[in-house]
This record gives sequence, C-alpha cells and structure tokens, in this order.
Amino acid sequence: MKKTYSKICPSCKSKDIIFEATDAGVFDVCRKCGFRMHGFPEVEDKK
Ligand SMILES: [Zn+2]
Repeated sequence: MKKTYSKICPSCKSKDIIFEATDAGVFDVCRKCGFRMHGFPEVEDKK
C-alpha cells in the first residue's frame, strides 16, 4: 500500500494549496486564507 500526503495550511487547515514561485523563493500559498510560507506541513491522506 502506498501512502499519499497532502500539504495542509497551518493557519486554517485547508488543503486547497497552490504553489508560488517568486524572486524570494518558492512558497506554498493557501487559497482559502492567503497564508504563505516556505513548505507547509504535510499530513497523511486518510481514505
Ligand atoms: Zn489557510
């Protein structure tokens, strides 16, 4: 069995995350609350 992981917003727990590349580096950005940082935490997907 293969485990899959999703990034999750540490602020609002949304998994609606987009990837944004800027001059300052690559960020994960939450589409729900707008929170951004380098590398959101990952959680194991539950079936
Ligand atoms: Zn969020």
